[in-house]
Amino acid sequence: MTAALTHQEIYERIYSAISERRLLPGMKLSEERLAQTFRTHRARIREVLMRLNQEMVIELRANRGAFVACPTPRDLQDVFDMRRALERAIVIQLAERHGGQPVVALRSHVQSEDEARASGDRARLAQLTGEFHVQLALITENRMFSDTLRRLSALTSLAIAQYDALAAGACPPHEHAELVAAIEQGDVKRAERLMLDHLDHVEQGIQHPTSEPAELDFEQIFQLPSHRPGPAAKPARKRG
Ligand SMILES: [Zn+2]
Repeated sequence: MTAALTHQEIYERIYSAISERRLLPGMKLSEERLAQTFRTHRARIREVLMRLNQEMVIELRANRGAFVACPTPRDLQDVFDMRRALERAIVIQLAERHGGQPVVALRSHVQSEDEARASGDRARLAQLTGEFHVQLALITENRMFSDTLRRLSALTSLAIAQYDALAAGACPPHEHAELVAAIEQGDVKRAERLMLDHLDHVEQGIQHPTSEPAELDFEQIFQLPSHRPGPAAKPARKRG
């Protein structure tokens, strides 16, 4: 039997599901179904949804409930303007300090991305490429940087899901490796240039709206064991 999850754990499950594009823009998040799925009270779910609403990844619509946010083209532009300003500052700091353990960790992260890309695991690749940017921010040890970037990264994931649900990771291959090399060499100008170009490429890679999302399997989306009651359980589509 799994113990009930805390507010923080539920928040993180939903947040990750959005960041990793298991929940897509416009999907309805029924309080009742979430409460059943997480085996908790609706009041707790409501608190979590309000917190996600403050972070702009959920929209609360009057009398209609909670929905995964649908970023507009303008929102996307704002997110990327902010990311360029922030990630430029981050990469300059890192290149000035260059070398050492952080670069080793970054290299191994890029290698995991390459493996996910080679094996065609798009969900894993999307997760890893998003984490790369957050990891750069974490290395600065500036919590304002890392918290803000985490939020921007989730909003970017939403925009990618909104405009091209089929995009692999939006980060083009090799660019992370080149960035890490510039940081390692302490080449501040090059690291700055590469980051700005990279963010331009990511932004350009986010394309046009796609189809309607399919029916939701909350247990699967939040990576919980299935316990859904009821008649005529559908045959499992895919396992493992
Ligand atoms: Zn990237």
